Amino acid sequence: MPVHNVMEEAVKDLLEKHWRNLSVSCHCETCKADVFALSLNRLKPHYVRDQSGSMYAKANLMTTQARATILTAITESAKVVSAYPHH
Ligand SMILES: [Zn+2]
Repeated sequence: MPVHNVMEEAVKDLLEKHWRNLSVSCHCETCKADVFALSLNRLKPHYVRDQSGSMYAKANLMTTQARATILTAITESAKVVSAYPHH
């Protein structure tokens, strides 16, 4: 039963686009992965049955409202990681 969390794709996409402009104390891959994981914990997962449904669901996550919600989670997570870096 293959399922796929498209929220993961959406967060990854936005994080890649905004990572350089985020005010984090460190821009290394470890901190980036920490922000990624923390953001996903803050957001509701969005599972689809398999890859075939992925594009449609992803499009749903790319509305202005959804992007704003995801970006807020990323920004908040970046603050936490900056305050408590894991290395
Ligand atoms: Zn770092």
